[in-house]
Amino acid sequence: MQAPLNHNLTQTWQAALCALEASLGSAEVDGWLRGAELVAIDAGVAKLSVPSSLHQERIRDRHLAHICGALGVTSCDLEVNELDIEQILPPEDLNAAIAAPVLPELSTPDTAMQAEPTAPECPTAEPLLLNDEYKFDNFVVGPCNRFAHAASHGVADRPADAFNPLFLHGSVGLGKTHLMQSIAHRLRMNNPAVRIAFLSCEEFVNHFVSSIRQGSVMHFRERYRNVDVLVIDDIQLLANKERTQEEFFHTFNALHNANKQIVLSSDAPPGDIPALQERLVSRFKWGLVAEIETPCFETRVAIMRRKADRIGIDLPDDIAHFIAEHVDSNVRELEGTLTHLHALAMLHNLPISLPLARQALGSERTARLNRVVRMDDIIAVIITHFGVRLADLQSKSRTKSIVYPRQVAMFLARSMTDLSLEEIGGYFGGRDHSTAVYAIEKMEKRRRVDGDFSSLLADLERRVRNS
Ligand code: ADP
Ligand code: MG
Repeated sequence: MQAPLNHNLTQTWQAALCALEASLGSAEVDGWLRGAELVAIDAGVAKLSVPSSLHQERIRDRHLAHICGALGVTSCDLEVNELDIEQILPPEDLNAAIAAPVLPELSTPDTAMQAEPTAPECPTAEPLLLNDEYKFDNFVVGPCNRFAHAASHGVADRPADAFNPLFLHGSVGLGKTHLMQSIAHRLRMNNPAVRIAFLSCEEFVNHFVSSIRQGSVMHFRERYRNVDVLVIDDIQLLANKERTQEEFFHTFNALHNANKQIVLSSDAPPGDIPALQERLVSRFKWGLVAEIETPCFETRVAIMRRKADRIGIDLPDDIAHFIAEHVDSNVRELEGTLTHLHALAMLHNLPISLPLARQALGSERTARLNRVVRMDDIIAVIITHFGVRLADLQSKSRTKSIVYPRQVAMFLARSMTDLSLEEIGGYFGGRDHSTAVYAIEKMEKRRRVDGDFSSLLADLERRVRNS
């Protein structure tokens, strides 16, 4: 008999999915099975290509018998096709979108022509790739985060009822993403059918940009306006993205009017996010704004203990105290130090001791300070902050709105990388080293006299280091 044609396999799989919806529910099918592909059926064995090992595990654990039943086969092999992961993640074209935040016109004829004839994406079509560690159970509550934690709990248990939107803010590494993921985990646990879109602001921006390029803005809208819960991390990255702010404004209104929950996080309170439209600032304050502050000493020790328990190390009090005394502003750094300590002890087969903790602290600090800063990291931050394109930075343009970000980028490149002045000038559109010297000196002078500018540079440097 002739081997079944591909489209037959596709149809067979579509029919099986319909049957599976009845037995497994549509959330499970949309979340885990729709992204899979039936690639062969031979001698009673079906072969499915799945987008990630996460899918493979889930399907193997929960769905195999149902799938075999639906396909009428005796067994089913799963092969992981990691490349297909893009199909289930929103940022279709991350790099291109980062490089081109200036949007083309909505309906240029050729973008319309090139639009892929894809089916509208269903809001639950991608499973949530949540970190299993980021659950309420693993979150240590202290005075610094009690309010944010309680608010997050409230939202998870009573979405669109307690606080809408919930707006979490605080410095980097203090647990915003952890809390947001905990909310998503809990929502899922309470109601497996809940439709959640959980994404970073960057993903939202990129998805919007590419949907414009592909002429699929309607799909984009359908996707984000048809969820029960929209969670967007690091919303401060909407700064300067006028078109996306506009779109997000309407998404926000549609969801809020339909009584759907919105959860946002940011490194600053709504009113302090630079270049954010006033109407968004005011909406962000409609629900509850909760700050996560730097953890106090006791909370830092408790976080260390929790983490030590999880990785299975016995952490004496004096060492927990020593680390908590020295790392006081970032939980990620606290965890990094502990991980370094664990690694050192394992590597040298030594017991955990104060000298070893000192060494671990040193290596964590050095690793952070000396982390090789790449030009790409700087460019990504500049592009996001100023809303320019890489092509603009490298162009001959003398427009003020391009010259200024270019000069800041050159300054950061000089202070944060080992690149020579020639290399820096060359990178930014083949300029010679005297242009780089001029730009860097100008920025340096301004930094000395202009306090706001100096804090902007410090903030950009921090973002580059944390990227
Ligand atoms: P943010 O999103 O604010 O930059 P994250 O949520 O990524 O920070 O947190 C950084 C790390 O610190 C994560 O590994 C997170 O699990 C951990 N963390 C932060 N706060 C706590 C806490 N209160 N209890 C336990 N772990 C925490
Ligand atoms: Mg985060």
